[in-house]
Amino acid sequence: MPEDMVPIRLNTLMNFRCGPENECFNDCCRDLNQALTPYDVLRLRRSLAMGSQDFLKKYTSLHNGPESGLPVVEFKPNPETGHACPFVRPEGCSVYTDRPASCRMYPLARAITRSRETGEISEFFALIEEPHCKGFGAKSDLTVQEWLKGQDLQAHNEENDKLMDLIGLKNRILPGRLEGNQADKFYLALYDLDEFRTRIFNQNLLEALKVPKTVLEKIRNNDEALLDFGLAWVKYVLFGIPMFFGE
Ligand code: SF4
Ligand code: SF4
Repeated sequence: MPEDMVPIRLNTLMNFRCGPENECFNDCCRDLNQALTPYDVLRLRRSLAMGSQDFLKKYTSLHNGPESGLPVVEFKPNPETGHACPFVRPEGCSVYTDRPASCRMYPLARAITRSRETGEISEFFALIEEPHCKGFGAKSDLTVQEWLKGQDLQAHNEENDKLMDLIGLKNRILPGRLEGNQADKFYLALYDLDEFRTRIFNQNLLEALKVPKTVLEKIRNNDEALLDFGLAWVKYVLFGIPMFFGE
């Protein structure tokens, strides 16, 4: 664990307060190097009423991890503001309701382990004590658990844990670097959901799979269902794990 990370229990008081009264207000949004998960992108582009390609092109940059070959999607640095997030405003975050999981979680970090027998997830938290952040030391009645509840993280955690499962599988089954076309499929099905949907419904991408109509109807209009479908499809096309349609 890095030196500035201190393990913390859920029943500990969260003596931290972020707000405009802090001299550092917005500083953490002005010096970014922030990877976005597929669910972060889904929520952000939906809140901005943008298609996935337009959002990804306008606000993100893409590179493939040098060792894993996995696509890494980050906020695109703005040449006018250096590394500032495109959504930071003097009054705060302009996409607050749909901000990414890492923004919700800061100054905490979350790690999980999953039981191989039961599938049950155990969570661990640490405080990231960075000197530039002046929110520490404020008195609070909220425990870490209560503070986390206020950040509305459940949906993000559930979706991001599924991504971590997929990455864990990749590391076990395909430990080296993904080939370019494998990385392209990962990016298509998890980040570029509108294009994934177009290829499914207009270009017969799933022709060989005999996907039931009920499933197709669900993923036609529901982004979360399409993302879950994409996670299963990536496991199928990359690792040969059969898709299960629940019928
Ligand atoms: S999305 Fe909002 S909270 Fe997150 S870095 Fe950007 S402005 Fe800050
Ligand atoms: S640096 Fe810390 S206190 Fe300051 S705005 Fe960011 S999270 Fe809030």
